[in-house]
Amino acid sequence: MRCLSVAFVLCCSLAIAADDPWKLDDKLKIAKPEDTKDAETVAAPKGAIILFDGKDFSQWLKKDGKSEVKWTLKDGVMEGVKGHGDIITKDKFDGAFKLHVEFRVPYEPAGAGQGRGNSGVYVQGRYEVQILDSYGLKPGKNDCGAIYEVSAPKTNECKAPTVWQTYDIEFTAPKFVDGKKTEPAKMTVHHNGVKIQDGVEIPVDNTRAGMGGNPSTPGPILLQDHGHPVQFRNIWLVPSK
Ligand code: MG
Repeated sequence: MRCLSVAFVLCCSLAIAADDPWKLDDKLKIAKPEDTKDAETVAAPKGAIILFDGKDFSQWLKKDGKSEVKWTLKDGVMEGVKGHGDIITKDKFDGAFKLHVEFRVPYEPAGAGQGRGNSGVYVQGRYEVQILDSYGLKPGKNDCGAIYEVSAPKTNECKAPTVWQTYDIEFTAPKFVDGKKTEPAKMTVHHNGVKIQDGVEIPVDNTRAGMGGNPSTPGPILLQDHGHPVQFRNIWLVPSK
């Protein structure tokens, strides 16, 4: 009987270890050692608007624009809570700016495609830079670093899941004259320091599951709840002069 209970406990703890989404196992093939090395955190430059410094959700609301955020917050890191929904910054942004975001995706070997480490950064709540576990894949228009359904990243710069990564997104809002769009939104994206989107013109006013709204008006930064425990730290924005 005692042997059985020991075996049961052992079995359970192994099952728990295997289910820890922040631990890799030897089933994941690592292409190069730096893929398992965290991207260095980047301090906000002078003049930056601090959107998340790990202390609290004071700059954020639920997507309804009024409810309190109830994602988890621990050790300076926020984590999406399945079903809670997307979160947005209280501030709205327009014109041109640079947005820095640090994130990591969980290790979900049982998932595939859009079902592993899915989240996203929506600029102005409208244009998604996809977050996904696309490690080692040939990237498409819906993979990590893609402007969702608009533009695949030039190269796959994903680190392994569980490893910290960075996005630096240079965004220029679309321009309108007398209510008519004269220039589309434009985006350049660096992923872990490598340029993966270069001045891409975005032909749509909203990518899938974005907030939409009048594209000539300012919009917030939105982080997506796609049901996966994606984590974020150190988010800041620098308006262009
Ligand atoms: Mg997404």
